[in-house]
Amino acid sequence: MNNPEQVLAQSSETPVCIVGAGPAGATASLMLSKLQIPHIIIDKAIFPRDKTCGDGLILHVFEVLRRIDPALLQAFVQHPAFIHTFAGRFFVKKDLSIDIDVQHPSSQPHPPIFYGKRIDFDDFLVKQLPSPYADIRLGCGLKDIERIGNTVLLTLSDGSTIQTSLVIGADGIQSIVSKKLAGNQHDKSRVSTFVSAYFQGLTNLAPAHEAEIRLIYKKMPLFFYIFPLPNGEANVSLGGTATDISLYRINLRAVIEDIIANHPEVRNKFLHAKRIGEWRGWGIPYSYGSIKITGDNFLLVGDAAGLANPFYKEGVGTGMMSALIAAEKAASAYHHGRFDENFLSSYADEAKKQFHKLLLLGRIALKFTKKPLLFQFFIRLTKGKIEKRIVRLIDSQAYGK
Ligand SMILES: Cc1cc2nc3c(=O)[nH]c(=O)nc-3n(C[C@H](O)[C@H](O)[C@H](O)COP(=O)(O)OP(=O)(O)OC[C@H]3O[C@@H](n4cnc5c(N)ncnc54)[C@H](O)[C@@H]3O)c2cc1C
Repeated sequence: MNNPEQVLAQSSETPVCIVGAGPAGATASLMLSKLQIPHIIIDKAIFPRDKTCGDGLILHVFEVLRRIDPALLQAFVQHPAFIHTFAGRFFVKKDLSIDIDVQHPSSQPHPPIFYGKRIDFDDFLVKQLPSPYADIRLGCGLKDIERIGNTVLLTLSDGSTIQTSLVIGADGIQSIVSKKLAGNQHDKSRVSTFVSAYFQGLTNLAPAHEAEIRLIYKKMPLFFYIFPLPNGEANVSLGGTATDISLYRINLRAVIEDIIANHPEVRNKFLHAKRIGEWRGWGIPYSYGSIKITGDNFLLVGDAAGLANPFYKEGVGTGMMSALIAAEKAASAYHHGRFDENFLSSYADEAKKQFHKLLLLGRIALKFTKKPLLFQFFIRLTKGKIEKRIVRLIDSQAYGK
């Protein structure tokens, strides 16, 4: 590399640089624009781009869109690429399920569960980014990042460089920002591995686009999802804790094909179904709590901060909410001219207030599924209470009540 001072002199300069324009990065940019903070946002992809996901959009997504702009929430709710439901079922076993049914459409502003292919949802967000405060650079990835004195130098794949006081790392599960600025290690024991594919022509699905999730035991607990999509398609996925999948040598693709062909409550839905495209695998990180999410000149958000829910795998909404909080912190840092760890650490406190209890509960529930009989006994005993709690969670997080 050239002399660092020369490189800094030739770099673009910005107070805040967001790395990644997925749901978390795009949210950070939208909020910074709202708060009139100049920034650069980069992504290695050109949008629309796909991302392996279950395509369920719940809880925090609504509050974040509303807080950015109520008209944005309306645009999302009315968008033809997204469908929705008031109901979902989590089958612990054949005759035991947790049923969510928020059937009071007239008293709710919108249904609590949406589905949308990520290629559409992420593009919907990225299309909102243009603003006098946002310098948007897509199709050019971060290659290297280093702190030089009180600033950060980002080197992109096209050789260009950006100098900034604050990096918001929104670059997903394989975050370079998390590795290089925070010094975090990838922790496989806090990752779920999933395979997922799109299907067309499923039949005998529950009415009104109800979400279907099943806990299926194959030496270990695995989570099987069917999420309906527009145009008669569905997202079908299966996964579980990454370390157990390695330990028990589970071939997720073989297991999900076996479930589709033979599972007594599932196979009748796939009799006339056709898979569109390949099975795709990806990880869902829940390392939050065991990694550093803020420090001198950086804040981590979304998957880069390991913020997915270990149990029900919401990572889009938690990612967006963390980015909203991070953008507010970044604005305050900009106004105070403070980008040091001491000043930024209240982001971690805010994140703790917002996520700690829910994510901890998710981790405990996930551990509990490893003892099937005990788990089933507990669910039978507390089913009514859990269902009421979920409705309260929806009221507070999706409807802001
Ligand atoms: C199979 C599966 C099912 C899931 N189901 C659900 C679900 O139903 N609901 C839900 O809420 N969550 C679900 N999740 C989790 C969810 O997909 C993630 O938590 C969510 O995408 C996190 O958003 P993000 O913006 O933090 O990261 P991402 O969506 O991963 O976005 C990161 C962005 O950073 C960019 N990037 C990466 N590296 C670089 C680089 N070096 N330079 C520049 N840009 C870079 C990428 O191109 C990408 O656009 C699922 C995940 C999987 C794998």
